[in-house]
Amino acid sequence: MTQPFDFTDKVVVVTGAGGVICGELAREFAKKGAKVALLDLNREAAQKYVDEITADGGTAKAYAANVLDKTFLEGVREEVLADFGPTDILINGAGGNNPRATTDNEFHELDLPEDTKTFFELDEKGIEFVFNLNYLGTLLPTQVFAKDMIGRPGANIVNISSMNAFTPLTKIPAYSGAKSAVSNFTQWLAVYFAHVGIRCNAIAPGFLVTNQNRGLLFNEDGTPTERADKILRNTPQGRFGESEELVGGVFFFADSNLSSFVNGVVMPIDGGFAAYSGV
Ligand code: NAD
Repeated sequence: MTQPFDFTDKVVVVTGAGGVICGELAREFAKKGAKVALLDLNREAAQKYVDEITADGGTAKAYAANVLDKTFLEGVREEVLADFGPTDILINGAGGNNPRATTDNEFHELDLPEDTKTFFELDEKGIEFVFNLNYLGTLLPTQVFAKDMIGRPGANIVNISSMNAFTPLTKIPAYSGAKSAVSNFTQWLAVYFAHVGIRCNAIAPGFLVTNQNRGLLFNEDGTPTERADKILRNTPQGRFGESEELVGGVFFFADSNLSSFVNGVVMPIDGGFAAYSGV
């Protein structure tokens, strides 16, 4: 067996690479010799990771890209082709929730205050935004980049689902449903591309502390909020994950020397959250 996690000269396209998780993944792929294309709506955010990678001797480039705009993505594909060559590995990382698709309460009640945002007040546009970002935002980059991956040895796609795809989290029906669709699509792609040599798997991360949710998880004095406390009680390992703890799972899927017969799998990386009934 060759050295594990050797991605020398593999072209890795990472969407949402200006973000916490995918920036980390991009950095780690570059450390293992990959040529990494970091795509993000926020090019400057991706450029920060590129600066770190290149300062470290790695090869990477940032591209402004909207995962919901296929024409735009086609242009980015041309640029990546010219800069690095055809894609070997696609990481579909862009995604997220939106407050407009989030209820105020976990349960509906008979006596809620007038101004409560219940399920009935959820904004259709907010729901659409979340579904599009997570589902279409995985599908469209796959349409654009997977064409070049057909027949390339070791080609594969890793999607980012979530533990809420197995059992929905309270308050966020659109995000849970959209990630469920991402898991389902992962299996669909695994089957569809099976004869042309592209594998497709996904990770389903549990709760990580990121810049967007830090304020929701911790009070100003550093103690966990009520929701954070509940999360920790339902995570058998009793702590939040770190973005670097996702790298091993992604590398396992991406390294076809290790996972050549692994296809259509959604791997929880969640400290046991999805396995725990709470009792
Ligand atoms: P993040 O907000 O730090 O990063 C997301 C990145 O996607 C941002 O840089 C943003 O600019 C970019 N983006 C947003 N819309 C885009 C678009 N239309 N086109 C291109 N780029 C776009 O989020 P993160 O926490 O690093 O999450 C990364 C992935 O992991 C997401 O799919 C998220 O749903 C998933 N996830 C996160 C957690 C968590 O706890 N953070 C848990 C489970 C799953």
